[in-house]
Amino acid sequence: MTRENQQTGATRPPEHPSFPRRHLFVAACCGIALTLLLALVPSDDVSASRQLVPVTLPLQAAPDIPEEPEPPILEQWVNLTVNPGDNLSLLFGRAGLTDADVYHIVRRAPEGKSLARLYPGEQFGFLLDDEGHLAALKRIKTPLETLLLRREGDSYIVEQQIREPEVHRSYASARIDSSLFLAGQQAGLPQTVIMELANIFGGVIDFVLDPRKGDVFHLVYEELYIDGEKYKTGNILAAEFINKGRSYTAYRYIDETNRSGYFSADGVSMRRQFMLAPVDFTRISSNFNPRRLHPIYKTHRPHRGTDYAAPRGTPVFAAGDGRVTEAGYTKANGNYVVIQHGQAYTTKYLHLHKRRVRKGDRVAQNQVIGTVGSTGAATGPHLHYEFLVNGVHRNPRTIHKKLPKGKSLTEQEMPRFLAQTQGFQLQLASIRQQQLALNQTEPNR
Ligand SMILES: [Zn+2]
Repeated sequence: MTRENQQTGATRPPEHPSFPRRHLFVAACCGIALTLLLALVPSDDVSASRQLVPVTLPLQAAPDIPEEPEPPILEQWVNLTVNPGDNLSLLFGRAGLTDADVYHIVRRAPEGKSLARLYPGEQFGFLLDDEGHLAALKRIKTPLETLLLRREGDSYIVEQQIREPEVHRSYASARIDSSLFLAGQQAGLPQTVIMELANIFGGVIDFVLDPRKGDVFHLVYEELYIDGEKYKTGNILAAEFINKGRSYTAYRYIDETNRSGYFSADGVSMRRQFMLAPVDFTRISSNFNPRRLHPIYKTHRPHRGTDYAAPRGTPVFAAGDGRVTEAGYTKANGNYVVIQHGQAYTTKYLHLHKRRVRKGDRVAQNQVIGTVGSTGAATGPHLHYEFLVNGVHRNPRTIHKKLPKGKSLTEQEMPRFLAQTQGFQLQLASIRQQQLALNQTEPNR
């Protein structure tokens, strides 16, 4: 045996016809054992956390192996990730294909043209035939959705593969020390869940100005798994937010027409005509910033709105559904937007860095209409927000108590609501109990 043979013999097909099968098997075992040995020998840079498990390999026992049946031909997919700046030609090139293959699939496959739009990070799989041409293409759009194009003669058959994730239920609790956003992060919640929590209670709590140190929230939410691995977070199922000692609870409910929404325990919808804080609170680092109501921002005399100090560029939302009646610039207001909501209500947003809507646009609640800035007579980046009822300025911080409450479920619907949410209510109560017990054992801070 030459040195080269020793190193590679384990994986090479027998070149020498006189090499008996049995020897090959032993050689293969030795090869595997050697590889494992090399991998297992501790070296200085092996981290302490790696657990080495002793492995016993049958080195000698090489029973006579019956003739194996031909192994099934496995499809050898070439898997590639789209890089920034990639196009189909570059991607196909890396898979060993030519521009002729690109041209063929784009022209011949149903929806072939849509292939040309690539997104960095996207996964593709290529299956080549014996002549090195494309036999099939996989586009993994999300872990749940794959598009499969299989060549049939001169055309392609399209197959949409959809997977259902496994849904697990999860819990989280947090106490707010500096901001809701940080508390949520410390509880291991992704930004989307914290935003959803703020959306659910956004009609009854101003998430910029209301949270106080010591506020607590509890959540029951879904986590979606694929092949035993967490894929992403699903819906919030139940939530409690205790603001300044007052508890607000919300439960997710799906009605007979398959529409979902959040309702209090007595069946009143959490959705209000107006969100209290029309800014993306996640960009405001502290809810307890003493500067937030600093008179420095009150450049309007008399001051008839609420000021939200926030970094320049923070998204500003439409407080409710409506129509843009003004979007322009004045020396005092800077870039500003005015939205009319039905007959009675008007909201105004001043000192914007950028406007994202035009006069006449229809806007939906929580739609981004601009970004926080300091244009016009403003000394620092902040949103100046005004709320008018029939043309009269009202305090947006207190007016919501006088606005209509959320819609109530009908008496006929309540049994369905209770059947769906009673389990969540019990879970929420048990999380609350656990947290209380924990807090009692914790040393005072
Ligand atoms: Zn102001």
